[in-house]
Amino acid sequence: MSDEPAVRVTGLAKCFGDLKVLCGIDLSVATGEVVCVIGPSGSGKSTLLRCVNLLEEPDEGSVVVGGVDLTHEDSDIDAARRKIGMVFQSFNLFAHLTVLNNLTVAQRKVLGRDRAEANRVALANLEKVGLLEKANAMPAQLSGGQQQRVAIARALSMGPEVMLFDEPTSALDPELVGDVLEVMRDLADEGMTMLVVTHEMHFAREVADRVLFMDGGVVVEEGPAEQVIGAPEHERTRTFLARVL
Ligand code: ADP
Ligand code: MG
Repeated sequence: MSDEPAVRVTGLAKCFGDLKVLCGIDLSVATGEVVCVIGPSGSGKSTLLRCVNLLEEPDEGSVVVGGVDLTHEDSDIDAARRKIGMVFQSFNLFAHLTVLNNLTVAQRKVLGRDRAEANRVALANLEKVGLLEKANAMPAQLSGGQQQRVAIARALSMGPEVMLFDEPTSALDPELVGDVLEVMRDLADEGMTMLVVTHEMHFAREVADRVLFMDGGVVVEEGPAEQVIGAPEHERTRTFLARVL
């Protein structure tokens, strides 16, 4: 293992018109580390994640994933992006494809795997998220929690080195949240490198190696969950936590 972190973000800045959304973010995630990002709505959390896999182009700063500088003009963005799996709040499954085909289409089109290999990987990942029996179901036949677990399995099927989660349980009915968090906890236990935006403070406390509190486009404080959530130093962190806990 090298000393180079799995993800290293340096001096990241991003504006939308006159609105400065990220104002110089520094962040690193070591291989196998789970980092949770918390903070109020509008603080730039989603934009940060979207910059990490270049769904948004940063104005300033660099994003290095697996040793490849995604922000360098010569780097192969598509190759670098394949190292990164992303799971969104809205599951974004392909509605017209079966669960199995949701998991195989990008493996075949992007990675060039043949059908048998793509199916094998897909079924292994469906089993991992506890949904093997839903392989031939259509997304609309599944609960929101099941759809999100399929979305996680789909991302895993691409063999990512890093998984990004943007409020993966925020769109779910409360009784469906636990199953999704359990899948994420298992992934963390297996050593997956994860950067997770979440409002689930309980999850952050139990699973995160480190927590970042963002507000107004900056990282206000970061440290072990016990410190940032349990004994925050900054008034802004305390105010936020008082609202969500
Ligand atoms: P969070 O995920 O913490 O709620 P976001 O990163 O989604 O925050 O948004 C931060 C700010 O940037 C918000 O004020 C939001 O309205 C604005 N914003 C996000 N995406 C865009 C965009 N594509 N165009 C214009 N403004 C945007
Ligand atoms: Mg967001």
